[in-house]
Parts: sequence; structure tokens; C-alpha cells
Amino acid sequence: MNLADSGILSAAMEKSGYKSVAEPEEAGVIILNTCSVRENAEERALGRLAELAHLKKKSETYICVVGCMAQRMGESLLQRVPAIDFVLGTERLFELPALLDAKNGEPVVDTTMGKDLAWAELPPVPDNPYMGQIIITRGCNNFCAYCIVPYLRGRERHRSPEAIIADVNHLVSLGVLEIMLVGQNVNSYRWRDGVRFPELLSLVARETDIRRIRFITSHPKDLSDDLIARFGDEPKLMANLHLPLQSGSDRILKHMLRSYTYAQFRNRVELLRQVCPDIALTTDLIVGYPTETEEEFEMTLAAARDIRFDSAFMFHYSEREGTLAARSQVDDIPEEVKLRRLQTLINLQKGISYSANQREVGKVHQVLIDGTSRRDDRIWKGKTEGNKTVLIRDDRDLLGRIVPVRVTLADSWTLHGEAL
Ligand code: SAH
Ligand code: SF4
Repeated sequence: MNLADSGILSAAMEKSGYKSVAEPEEAGVIILNTCSVRENAEERALGRLAELAHLKKKSETYICVVGCMAQRMGESLLQRVPAIDFVLGTERLFELPALLDAKNGEPVVDTTMGKDLAWAELPPVPDNPYMGQIIITRGCNNFCAYCIVPYLRGRERHRSPEAIIADVNHLVSLGVLEIMLVGQNVNSYRWRDGVRFPELLSLVARETDIRRIRFITSHPKDLSDDLIARFGDEPKLMANLHLPLQSGSDRILKHMLRSYTYAQFRNRVELLRQVCPDIALTTDLIVGYPTETEEEFEMTLAAARDIRFDSAFMFHYSEREGTLAARSQVDDIPEEVKLRRLQTLINLQKGISYSANQREVGKVHQVLIDGTSRRDDRIWKGKTEGNKTVLIRDDRDLLGRIVPVRVTLADSWTLHGEAL
């Protein structure tokens, strides 16, 4: 979401005559788009701000903090870092170019939120020449007990199918081959006339020339049979799904207000694998949630072993002010226990990702080549249908093409292959 918003804001700045520069020292305006989902994301942003404040002393530079941390901290950010000129919340960030034009000496703080999404109707910007993200819904109604997102991004609001299709066509006209439809919970997408998420997917697939479609994030409770079926019958829908489990313990899931049990989650996975045997599944897992016992943590390990996710984002619980968990539970798992559990889980998942990738060896994938390896620009880099990175050594110009690739070698994070 932040990546997509940052792209849109950059484009809006360029439209107002600004140009991006390589180093903060060269900038007249520095914008930090921030995340508040865990405390350490905020700590990193505050650390960066302290560094940037030094730059400001040397030259006349505007420092702008936008997004979730701006929304959460508002005015108080100015007390912490007096060098800041703009604090613009999650629904105000796109106003920055106009506010810069009108700037007088005073800092500007605006964290007001509204009911509609008219403010967000700006054209999407590709992440790279071949891939782009399109935000289809903003906000969240789920209020998972640990999560601050609904407080900072407001209630769920959806964009019209027409606006979404116009965005897809726009990206296609720029040469984009693959899109990611983005929302906190895309499964609950519903437009007024009754178009739900599975129908939206089919509309995008049928009515545009986009080649590949993905989406993120899905809430397990809203992952309908209808949506799962599209993985079998919609060829443009890529075989990968991010499905956050959070915990393997039903008691913890209940405390988290996730509204599914592990068995129900498992059932969704089974159906997905029946419909689309090659589907790559990724997830999010939290360890050290308040009151989590050693046995309950082991249930998360058992779940990871049982489902064998292709990869996982793993976190230790971070208490966020104002959330239900922070209000009703003591953050009682000691830091060292949280860190030990996290490391145990990461080690386990690394082995699972390794063997999942070993199973790819010998298979042929359709790979979208979107650039070259960071370490060696003679090696092409691309994404499989399962969204796994493949590196390919080949003298031909493969950039921006979708080519069949046989996987020859794999480690936990990357596949290596040859273009056929
Ligand atoms: N809407 C998405 C993204 C939410 S934030 C979703 O529901 O999946 C991404 C991930 O951050 C969550 O899935 C969760 O695993 C993690 N997360 C959110 N709040 C957290 C907290 N307070 N402590 C630790 N991890 C958290
Ligand atoms: Fe947070 Fe839950 Fe909404 Fe995801 S679904 S953004 S975890 S409240």
C-alpha cells in the first residue's frame, strides 16, 4: 500500500514540476512515507528523521512526514523533531504539492480523514516498466485485536470497477504486463451494484489486455469457494496467494479476533491446492502474542510444518497503543522469549522454503523478466507464476518478455534457471 502510494505521490510531485534526485543532500523536499504497524517501523522512521534534521541545518530543505505514523502522531511529531515542515496523514498525503505551493513559514499538520475516496483518484504509477499495483480498496473493518491499521486508515471503502479498469488500461498502455490489486482485505471488495471481488477479477481479466493478475491481501474468513475457483478457471490469475494465518492456536486466533479456526484455515488451503495444485502460498505469522504459551507457540510451528508455506513474513508481537489487545491484555511475553520463538520459527520456515523451492527444480515456468540481478547485470531476473524470483544467465535480450524457463537450481530465497 505504501509502495503504491509513494509512486502516486512521486508522480503528483513531478506533475507540479519537481524532479527526483539520487541523494537526500541534493533534495529541496524530502518526503518520508511511514508505517506504524509495528513499533520498530516507527523507530526506524524516527531514526531517519533525526538524520534528515541535520541536513536541514545545512540547507533550506522541506521535511515532510506522510502516511500512518504522521496520522498516528500528528502534532506531537513536531515536538519530537522540530525540523519537520509537513505532517500529512493517510488521507492528506496527495495534497503535498499544492500545500508546498502555498507554504509560508509555519509547519503544516493535517490528519483529517473523510468518508469517500475521491481524494485517492489519481493514476497509478508502475513499480517497474512491467509491473504495477492498483489500490482497489482502502481502510479495514476487521479490527484484529493487535492491529493499528483500521485506526489509521479508517473504514473500508472501495473504488468502482470502472475506475479500476481504467487504471489497468492506463498501466497496459504504458507497457505493464502484470498487476497487483491491493487492499488491506481485497476479498471483502464489494461495489454498489453488487460486483464482488471474484467478479472484479474476471472483469479485469476479460475487459483489459493485462497479461497477469495478482492480489494482496486476502483474509481467510472471506476467501470464498467462488474466489478459490477462479484460480482454476481464470488463466490470467497467477498461481500464488498471500494468506495470513497469524497463529496455529485456536485460542490465540480467538483472542486476535481473526474469526477462523486453524481447521477452517486448513480447509481453505486444501481446496486451493485441489483447484490449483501448483499454487504458491505465503503467509504472515505472529509469535509472542499476549498470554501465548510454549504449547501454543508450538502449534504455530506445527501449522508451518503442516501447511508448508512457500515463504512467510514472521513477526514478534508489538503492542500498538489504542488497539483492543493493548487495552485489554498485558504484553506479558518477555522480549527474550519473543525473540527466541521468532528465531525458532524463522529457522523452521527457512528449511520449509528450501524444500518447497527444491520441488521446483526441473519444472518449467512462465517467467516475466523484469530486470537484471542486483549483483550481475548479465543475469536476468524474473518472476514465476508463483511470484518466486528466478535468475537466468542468457545472452539474448529477454527484458520485458514472458518466457518459458526450466528451473535448474534452488536455494531458500531464489530459483536459478535456463530460458527455453
Ligand atoms: N491487511 C493485511 C496486512 C496487515 S499488516 C492483513 O490482514 O494481512 C501485515 C502483517 O503485520 C499482519 O498480517 C500481521 O502479521 C502483522 N502485524 C500487524 N500488527 C502487528 C502487531 N501489532 N505486532 C506484530 N505484527 C503485527
Ligand atoms: Fe489489520 Fe486485521 Fe485489517 Fe489486516 S485484516 S489490516 S491485520 S485489522
